[in-house]
Amino acid sequence: MNDRKMTENELLTRCGGKCELCGSELELSIYDLPASDGYENEIMICETCSSQIAAADTMDMNHWRCLNDSMWSPVPAVQVMSYRMLKRLNGEGWAQDLLDMLYLEDDVKAWGDAEVAATGDDTTPTLDSNGAVINAGDTVVIIKDLNVKGTSFVAKRGTAVRNIALTNNPEHIEGRVNGTRIVILTCFVKKS
Ligand SMILES: [Zn+2]
Repeated sequence: MNDRKMTENELLTRCGGKCELCGSELELSIYDLPASDGYENEIMICETCSSQIAAADTMDMNHWRCLNDSMWSPVPAVQVMSYRMLKRLNGEGWAQDLLDMLYLEDDVKAWGDAEVAATGDDTTPTLDSNGAVINAGDTVVIIKDLNVKGTSFVAKRGTAVRNIALTNNPEHIEGRVNGTRIVILTCFVKKS
């Protein structure tokens, strides 16, 4: 397991200031892919991509035509995210065509499939530190000062985070703190 985390500056250099999925330059933030094994698992993506990744039921199919380009990225984490999104979209003929064309190294493909398998079971609820179910759109309160990875700010204990989004991982939610969209571990929040 490679525990090294890329810094925001390293990621910004790699992505050239553009979303690594769709190329947008608006509201970039770090997205952490769970379940990597030995690869750097951060990618830099825009607000549109991250919100659509979090909320599968509001996906804009046309937006994801960008996967046609991003799937050829040399970055394994970007390949994996493209692969996972194509899998989600595979009811669309064009997405299936891209999946057929996509070539991934065996271990990268295994990483991609690991998450697809995990999200196949969406019966796992997202729970706060007290075991209460968190739903998309809820407001939660942070119960511990949190250093936000890749930034210099601390999300303070007591901060209310409104209109949170769920993620593929029931232990993570996404929300906006200090204007930055961040991933927060559910064990550090309580529903307000
Ligand atoms: Zn994007």
